[in-house]
Amino acid sequence: MKTNLKTSDAKGEIPQGVTIKTEKELAYMWEAGQVVAKTHQVLRRAIKPGITTLELDAIAEREIRSLGAIPAFKGYRGFPGTLCVSVNDEIVHGIPGKRKIKEGDLVSLDLGAIVAGLYGDAAVTWPVGEINDNLVKLLEVGEASLYAGIQKSVSGNRLGDVSSAIQMEIESRSSYGIVREYVGHGIGRQLHEQPSVPNYGIAGRGVQLRANMAIAIEPMVNLGTHETILLDDDWTVKTADGKPSVHFEHTVIITEGTPIITTKLDQ
Ligand code: MG
Repeated sequence: MKTNLKTSDAKGEIPQGVTIKTEKELAYMWEAGQVVAKTHQVLRRAIKPGITTLELDAIAEREIRSLGAIPAFKGYRGFPGTLCVSVNDEIVHGIPGKRKIKEGDLVSLDLGAIVAGLYGDAAVTWPVGEINDNLVKLLEVGEASLYAGIQKSVSGNRLGDVSSAIQMEIESRSSYGIVREYVGHGIGRQLHEQPSVPNYGIAGRGVQLRANMAIAIEPMVNLGTHETILLDDDWTVKTADGKPSVHFEHTVIITEGTPIITTKLDQ
């Protein structure tokens, strides 16, 4: 049944570009998500002081391919890596290279995988060794805000319910900066589909969620200002004030009940 790409955005209709997945597509999205989750697990064990971000990238690519999937980011709009590695004040889209991970770093890893043309996408920020209390709290709020958004990702709710839940979770803690220029997204046969999923918004507004839609929710939370800078490499996004940032993301399938997190390992 082809239900995607309806053009009407009248109430109750599915906006242009938002896709409803078939059961078969969802099964492949689950597989792709599990590859992403397993790869993150391998990377978590590999991150230690002295390893370079390029070595982490190689580990990620090897793992994804060994699981029979294709790295989703490599070559995407010319991105050279399998992995986005963003350290400390880097928010997202860091290019793997010679940089060595150090004790006390916050390392954000973002990766995607493709199985049978369907995508999974997830990010996580890991602390390396001992970090100070401010950073521990920043990590906690980043992850909590992702789950606040996931909890609202239920058929019948609107996108604004998801966005505002993320925003409220963050702003209830302290004056953190919520990144605005980069947002979550629909996902399926493409890495980035409609709708955009901002990490701030007004409850009750926006696209109505339906069963078998899929979205990648990805709050980026800064210790200081929400403002960002794009580096000369045209990829790496940093905080404008040089303070650290965290990034947490899962790919989520909407259902009538509890959302399915494809990029979380089945326990
Ligand atoms: Mg994403």
